Amino acid sequence: MNKALIVIDYTYDFVAADGALTCGDPGQSIETKIIQLTKEFIKQEDYIVFAVDVHEKDDPYHPETELFPPHNIRGSHGRGLYGELANIYNEHQLKENLFYMDKTRYSAFSGTQLDMKLRERGITELHLVGVCTDICVLHTAVEAYNLGYQVVVHKNGVASFNQTGHEWALEHFKNVLGASVQ
Ligand code: ZN
Repeated sequence: MNKALIVIDYTYDFVAADGALTCGDPGQSIETKIIQLTKEFIKQEDYIVFAVDVHEKDDPYHPETELFPPHNIRGSHGRGLYGELANIYNEHQLKENLFYMDKTRYSAFSGTQLDMKLRERGITELHLVGVCTDICVLHTAVEAYNLGYQVVVHKNGVASFNQTGHEWALEHFKNVLGASVQ
């Protein structure tokens, strides 16, 4: 089966201790799992997508402007991939099976080429990691479900700044989206 790893919003702003919208310790604690899976997928020459939130500064039209502090502003340090993932990206960025993708909404499918890129490659199984479990990972999983993908969520590879939301989302992936949570 063709599979892809979707690494969602693992950036400085969402993960680092002083990030603008950080998940804090839970976000940092999943780094090992994300790096391990990324290296595994690279080795197996499977497809890897870095889906990375981008916002314009003081965008009056974006719905998140009223909901969250400014984060992942285009061109800012905060939008950089967090930790070791940045090094892996720099090393492999020109490889055909690594796709760095901007997204402007919670779901990695919303307004992006993701579905086409996956279908071109015959990919049917998506492995999700990143943050936040109950926001961008959740919305991506819901859209993947609606589009007919098999979804695998790595529970040690997702985190949120809201622990209750994190736990609720893990149950939702399994019980409502038919995902494998492993
Ligand atoms: Zn955002």
